[in-house]
Amino acid sequence: MEIPFIDLRKQYHSIKDEIDRAINKVLENTSFVLGAEVDSFEDNFARFCNSKYAIGVNSGTAALHLALLASNIGKGDEVITAPNSFFATAEAISLTGATPTFVDINERSYNMDPLKIEKIITDKTKAIIPVHLYGQTADMKPILEIAEKHNLKIIEDACQAHGSRYNGKRGTLGESACFSFYPGKNLGAYGEAGAVVTNDEKIANKIKLLRAHGEAPKNTHSIVGYNYRMEGIQGAILNVKLNYLDKWNNERREHARLYNELLQGKVIIPEEFTYHVYHLYVVRHVMRDGLRDYLSSKGIATGIHYTTPIHLQPAYKNLGYKEGSFPIVEKVTKEIISLPMFPEMTEEQINFVSENIENY
Ligand SMILES: *Cc1c(COP(=O)(O)O)cnc(C)c1O
Repeated sequence: MEIPFIDLRKQYHSIKDEIDRAINKVLENTSFVLGAEVDSFEDNFARFCNSKYAIGVNSGTAALHLALLASNIGKGDEVITAPNSFFATAEAISLTGATPTFVDINERSYNMDPLKIEKIITDKTKAIIPVHLYGQTADMKPILEIAEKHNLKIIEDACQAHGSRYNGKRGTLGESACFSFYPGKNLGAYGEAGAVVTNDEKIANKIKLLRAHGEAPKNTHSIVGYNYRMEGIQGAILNVKLNYLDKWNNERREHARLYNELLQGKVIIPEEFTYHVYHLYVVRHVMRDGLRDYLSSKGIATGIHYTTPIHLQPAYKNLGYKEGSFPIVEKVTKEIISLPMFPEMTEEQINFVSENIENY
């Protein structure tokens, strides 16, 4: 048996007619950039997130960059985030001219540890980007309390957490929340796409201006912006796929439940503190590299998210962090392995992966 890490083709074939029709509609109406399909997706996605506004952009990285700019983050500022995220979280901070500063994680949730945040707040700290890693919301209540006390902005990196909940509810908890629709995400486009979701009209308007060259009204550029617009075809595809997101997230959750049952006691299984949408199903084993090779030899694809914490990446050598700066992240990084996880997985596939882990 060959088990892929994710099977986008199988998903496409399950909704092929609807997708093909949606793409054809854009080919015929030629609204290739923004347009009615993107408008409609923005309305639908805002509603899905229990939020007032969604602004479609061309990647999750662009969403983070614009959300930070709209919150007036820039040169001389510091923004706190987690070192165990995709590089883009810190990169977006750097793109504004601000400096990322990192805080270690909770070993059980893999998300930023609220107890460690206050120690690294300085006069320059202006914002916190909690990352809802693997599909589980960070511990937002204490993070929001710290932000309130120190007058910091909260921008959520929800790029792995479409549909996740905190205390039973979906919604934007900070000034804004950023999503990626990279093809492999829980809600994935067929190319690059992203969105910022917010309840703040001023932030929404600023992001709309920034994503399209600061142009409004037409031919008047009131500020220098970017070309971060969402494509019409991606909006049309996302509109179709959004209707399936709850179903797909439920399927992921069922797969996680079965994995947990089969893997309990054999590896460290994920813990659910709040409604988790399992973008990634990540377990830990002290002989991770051996396990990964073994599974590969049995035809099972796995991943590591991520192999090097951001504070140890060469691009951030100038920040002065070193091995040992964040002991929990560094330890966990050596043990984590992401198992195949996608809605279309079969019970047979989950059994096969689990049996091979047991054999190892
Ligand atoms: C995917 C991802 C991003 C970046 O999104 P892109 O659409 O690839 O630019 C940022 N942060 C996290 C946590 C991600 O998983």
